[in-house]
Amino acid sequence: MTVKERGNSMTGRSSSSPHADARGAAKRTVQGREPVQMSVDFTKTTVSEIFGQNVFNRSVMRKLLPKHVYKALVRCLDFGEALHPSMADIVANAMKDWALAKGATHFTHWFHPLTGLTAEKHDSFLTSSADDGGAILEFSGKLLVQGEPDASSFPSGGIRSTFEARGYTGWDPTSPAFLMESTNGKTLCIPTVFCSYSGHALDKKTPLLRSLEALNKQTVHLLKLIGNKEVKRVNCTVGAEQEYFLIDEAYYMSRPDLINCGRALFGAKPPRGQEMEDHYWGSIKERVLAFMMDTEAECYKLGVPVKTRHNEVAPAQFEVAPVFEYSNVAVDHNMLLMEVFRKTAQKHGLRCLFHEKPFSGVNGSGKHNNWSMADDQGNNLLEPGTTPHENLQFLVVLTAVIRAINKYGHLLRASIASAGNDHRLGANEAPPAIMSIYLGDKLTAVVQTIISGKKEILGEIGKVLQFGVSTLPDLPRDDSDRNRTSPFAFTGNKFEFRAVGSSQSIAWPNTVLNTIVAESMDYVSSAIASEIKTGLDVNAAVEKVVRKTLIDNERILFNGDNYSKVWHEEAERRGLPNLKNCVDALPVLNEQEVKDLFNKYSVLQEDELFSRYNVNLESYCKTINIESLLTANIARTIILPAALDNQLKLAQTIATTKAALNGINLAEQENFLKHLCDEITTLQIDLDKLEGVIKEGKQEEHGEHGESDNLRRAKFYQEQVIPAMDAVRNISDQLETVVDDALWPLPKFREMLYIY
Ligand code: ADP
Ligand code: MG
Repeated sequence: MTVKERGNSMTGRSSSSPHADARGAAKRTVQGREPVQMSVDFTKTTVSEIFGQNVFNRSVMRKLLPKHVYKALVRCLDFGEALHPSMADIVANAMKDWALAKGATHFTHWFHPLTGLTAEKHDSFLTSSADDGGAILEFSGKLLVQGEPDASSFPSGGIRSTFEARGYTGWDPTSPAFLMESTNGKTLCIPTVFCSYSGHALDKKTPLLRSLEALNKQTVHLLKLIGNKEVKRVNCTVGAEQEYFLIDEAYYMSRPDLINCGRALFGAKPPRGQEMEDHYWGSIKERVLAFMMDTEAECYKLGVPVKTRHNEVAPAQFEVAPVFEYSNVAVDHNMLLMEVFRKTAQKHGLRCLFHEKPFSGVNGSGKHNNWSMADDQGNNLLEPGTTPHENLQFLVVLTAVIRAINKYGHLLRASIASAGNDHRLGANEAPPAIMSIYLGDKLTAVVQTIISGKKEILGEIGKVLQFGVSTLPDLPRDDSDRNRTSPFAFTGNKFEFRAVGSSQSIAWPNTVLNTIVAESMDYVSSAIASEIKTGLDVNAAVEKVVRKTLIDNERILFNGDNYSKVWHEEAERRGLPNLKNCVDALPVLNEQEVKDLFNKYSVLQEDELFSRYNVNLESYCKTINIESLLTANIARTIILPAALDNQLKLAQTIATTKAALNGINLAEQENFLKHLCDEITTLQIDLDKLEGVIKEGKQEEHGEHGESDNLRRAKFYQEQVIPAMDAVRNISDQLETVVDDALWPLPKFREMLYIY
């Protein structure tokens, strides 16, 4: 026997499986990749030249619309005034001419159904052929304003009975229409809301717009009450930082779990994870940078103001952040951004993963929702001011937000509950499931002084509390003062809600945030008004209400380490809810107090809320169901055969060696084989169990689909299916570490996360 043969013989390396060959081929494909050039050349054109070139924005409208129509549209955008139907035809015509001139052939109402994705159904501008056989291209006000897609297959959570399955889309002029480019042409996309015949909201956008109305109404009322004479309208500003992973397409194609579930259902933790801390903000690899620049150019064309790019903590993880915008546009732009990233990745031979936890063992991805409010002059209501009056207003607004998060923290938690986010919240990397607010030391000192009632003790800060005397201390905004463990952190002039999952639409969490803050503004207004009635002047009334409200809601404030065990115990003592997972959190949507809240502020009627509760539960069940089926399938048809193959080859090698070298002691090798056999047996047992549980789950499906039934099914998935899946994964990942590398069929984390 030659040395070479002996080297290979122990694990039977002489031949590998077709699967493992594919894994090797993937690696070779990746080695041959080059950075891909983008279509825009910034040496020949500038960002300002292409920014918004595919958007029917204000400057386009000013050019193309008659003055009175343009002005009416601006009033609609800035002050929420309804647009007279007679103007719709004029706008539609201008929009069509603009789109055709840019090469569009089709239009679509673009909306946000409860799937959490966006939906589009394209229509060509062609209406009928002319008498002479030529084509007539038309787009009327009617087509712009309302669409009637046969959209009966979108989830409605039971709100829509089948006989009125049709949904209606309605133009939302507050978000600009845009052209979506694809390889062979452009489509005019018109942002719309999506409702049932009876006016029920079937989408994520309608409640968001309603919540903005509620927030506007309650906040303007409060600001006027405390002496702000100028304010006419308050809007909400949002900047969503987006985390994502990039994986080479060749690996992706060899991983059915990534293709179907967006996350790796198998895979041992790589020997090199993120412990070297060398990826975060590290120099960006050439291929990745080429991708990032390409996405940026595409985003610019769509008017999506992307600003920052960097490497994130986990290997192969990155982040992009836009400049903040009004929240309804920010919501649309975040959805567009994700779409652009997905598409562009493919052009670069990559795949972009937005799942909250694509790879266990390294960090998951979130979407930090930076949130504030601005008045019609563009003044940020969470910006500590330079005049006494501004400071008073700042403290009142801050107090209302603090109360909102304390009173409805459980609802905010429920707004970001999903199967994907369950991997993240509570793990040692993302904020925990306990909602709390970080204010930073200086603002905490201000709040504590107000609570203590002793104005003099803190010098300058104390003076602020005479509401109207001095300025607030400079609040730090730099990175070093951030608390990265807090789910809801004040960052100088805005709050950062950090618990949102990376794949989620930000529409729903923002709807909840706006609604609970609107309720709190309402509460504070009423309290101040009653104090004024008793004879107090405005400043004294404000001071009294702010102090009492802060005392009542102080328990939500926490500046320390949110990951620590100490905080979990402390939070429990404070009575803060800790809804650890999706199934614990979603029933909040069904509480009477929450129903009353949404109803009172006309954001969601009871049945609309109930439908969201059901859709969320169903989506949880479906996700886990798909993951469990695929886990069983991959384990049975890919991993088990590879392990058995290795077992056989090992047994043959040992037998052959024994025969060749008569009498040699191979006890250690036989032990290794025995060990492998045992692990394979464990895999088979766990796999049988998983398949059994899946069968049971199928029977559960056949029950009635009422409220309690959805919750019962979700609990079944959580309590029975997930542990069974985990067991199969654990033993499979263990096998990955012992099976001959040449036989292992799935690309490993150490390749996927490192080799570009
Ligand atoms: P950092 O990157 O340190 O977290 P930034 O100031 O860059 O801080 O903000 C991050 C995100 O917050 C960006 O998307 C930014 O546009 C957004 N942002 C900044 N100010 C506001 C605001 N007033 N309202 C909403 N979002 C904001
Ligand atoms: Mg940030």
